[in-house]
Amino acid sequence: MMPRNRPLRRGMSRPYLRAARAALRLERGMRQSLYAAHKMMVGGEYLAAADQFEHLASEAMEKGMEIRAPFLYIQASRARLHSGQVQASLADLRQGLGLLAQSNRWVAVSRHGERAIIEYEQFGYTAQAVEVRHWLRATIPADAPGLAIDQSIPRPDPTQAQLPAKCPYCGGNVLPDEVNWVDPTSAECVYCGSVIRIAD
Ligand SMILES: [Zn+2]
Repeated sequence: MMPRNRPLRRGMSRPYLRAARAALRLERGMRQSLYAAHKMMVGGEYLAAADQFEHLASEAMEKGMEIRAPFLYIQASRARLHSGQVQASLADLRQGLGLLAQSNRWVAVSRHGERAIIEYEQFGYTAQAVEVRHWLRATIPADAPGLAIDQSIPRPDPTQAQLPAKCPYCGGNVLPDEVNWVDPTSAECVYCGSVIRIAD
């Protein structure tokens, strides 16, 4: 096997990066609630899951974890969609995408918006899918950096394929095109901020 090169980040030491990342990780109690919410979702308890994700999202906001809150709102939106509450689902989605847009995280806005459109269409909510499409067009700047790459189909990467399907810390789905790669062997869960390592 070829040795992997680990790129060094300019100006920041590894301990500093570790500490910076730890500050953006959900605390244990919240991770446990999140684990329960993801489990409810898998078990088809969509209403309870939606309540829990919304609660976690507002708790994340209160604690200054704006980096986590959008994904919790988006997951709440998905749970509302599954439970047939399409207007509440749209409200949660707008909240999540809006927070991402406020911090100019356009790649994430596009990716999660596009995914929501597909899900609304799958559920037969065509009007809502169109509404999200219009919102994305009106909101994402044409010159937003990174979008040209983002909108292409994610290229298969053997490293990404080795990530576990679910985050061992919060139970959230680990999607290779969604996680933030920390280095070639580890990635950060979008929901809880834990660092997940690829299987050896
Ligand atoms: Zn996680």
